Amino acid sequence: MKTAIYPGSFDPVTNGHIDVIERAAKLFTKVIVAVIRNPEKKSRFTLEQRVEMLKECLSGDKNVIVESFDGLLVDYARKKKANIIVRGLRAVSDFDYEFQMALTNRKMAPDIETLFFMTDYKYSYLSSSFVKQIAHFGGDVSELVPKAVAQKLKEA
Ligand code: ADP
Repeated sequence: MKTAIYPGSFDPVTNGHIDVIERAAKLFTKVIVAVIRNPEKKSRFTLEQRVEMLKECLSGDKNVIVESFDGLLVDYARKKKANIIVRGLRAVSDFDYEFQMALTNRKMAPDIETLFFMTDYKYSYLSSSFVKQIAHFGGDVSELVPKAVAQKLKEA
């Protein structure tokens, strides 16, 4: 029984995130997609909306569950009996931050391992921030995010 936890802001979820989740779901018994409640980071969608969108997009994956959390990730992972943290890597620019976070988490919880999924080339330039900017100026995001998310971006 291997439970992995994939934490992130998912503001909103993109096809890049979905790709990581689906690949992780093939490797682990259970994948918990954990949406961070981070009051310091201004988000476009509320925590509830972010969770809702993920649930809608992942309803077909039986071993994937979507939850939200606040506080320390390692505490949450322990509570959920997950000893793997999944993160994605797009470009070298992700590395610094991810490296720091993985080492900090390992310092606090040596029993929890962080595993990185290399992005698919199709999604290597895809980020939630770009999606929000494109949508803000009326651009087409239909190839970047799931249908339900594209719809929400139009409404918001
Ligand atoms: P955070 O605010 O914690 O960085 P994000 O929701 O932006 O949360 O991203 C969550 C994780 O998914 C991060 O590890 C990020 O590098 C990864 N990620 C984001 N977009 C992609 C993508 N297009 N391909 C692969 N991984 C990605």
